Amino acid sequence: MRSIVITGAPQSGKTSIILGLLSRLDNSIFIDTKVDVPLLYKFFTGQETRNPFHIKAPVRNFMVCVGCQLCLKRCPFGAIYEEDLWIDPLECECCGLCVQQCAQKALQMVNMQIGEWIKLEKESKILLYGKLMPGATGEGLLVEELYNQATALSKDLAIIETYGVGEIAARMLSKASDVILVLDPFTNEEVIDRINNFCDTSKKYLLLNKKGMDIDKEKLLVQKAEANGFKLLSALPYQEDLKVLSEQAICNNEMFNKAVNSLVQEL
Ligand code: SF4
Ligand code: SF4
Repeated sequence: MRSIVITGAPQSGKTSIILGLLSRLDNSIFIDTKVDVPLLYKFFTGQETRNPFHIKAPVRNFMVCVGCQLCLKRCPFGAIYEEDLWIDPLECECCGLCVQQCAQKALQMVNMQIGEWIKLEKESKILLYGKLMPGATGEGLLVEELYNQATALSKDLAIIETYGVGEIAARMLSKASDVILVLDPFTNEEVIDRINNFCDTSKKYLLLNKKGMDIDKEKLLVQKAEANGFKLLSALPYQEDLKVLSEQAICNNEMFNKAVNSLVQEL
């Protein structure tokens, strides 16, 4: 399965592009990594399967813990605080090494449901997305689960929508065979560096959303992206048009079709 990651600033036009690809690519999986507020499912009808998502996370029994700090020293992710030995759920990767380290058996891995992952299937196309339970952390683990489920489904392509270049995008970029960056006025140069740090593919494409783009900034960004191996494909219609396209999920816009068709040809 080839993993194609599409990223860019919020509202840059990624969703419209995904919808354009959805109507053109068969035998494909689409992954929405926005597990706090998933969006793509609103445009995709199909047979739905819902599955609970569990993680095994470390829980400490403070009645047994003697405060030796061996667990803290063993944690490769720095997830345990020195002051009170609190395990930060945002940092913990649930690797279980702290549990193995504790001779007192004060730590245990406990099974917890933190959300669900959902599969929508229509003909040869599948959409995967997830939802966390209120107050739950573990966004990265849920997105990894979506990716693992996708790899088990034996499709040709996975189109993965990510947002910016934060932790979730970094996880997906590290698996990417192709990257599509939607460049808009809110993109900064750092994004291009970070994409290059996280993935080493040579298949990198650039789509431009010029709405409100200063011509000098556009020149600077495009030059930098091209110097870093991105191939400039095409300009998109302006953001307002893209919003309407998203809402209708149907596209008769010539400029948009040209951009998406040029992308499909590359993929
Ligand atoms: S290794 Fe065990 S006993 Fe030592 S601080 Fe950690 S939980 Fe407590
Ligand atoms: S499970 Fe792994 S990541 Fe989480 S606190 Fe223990 S050692 Fe650190």
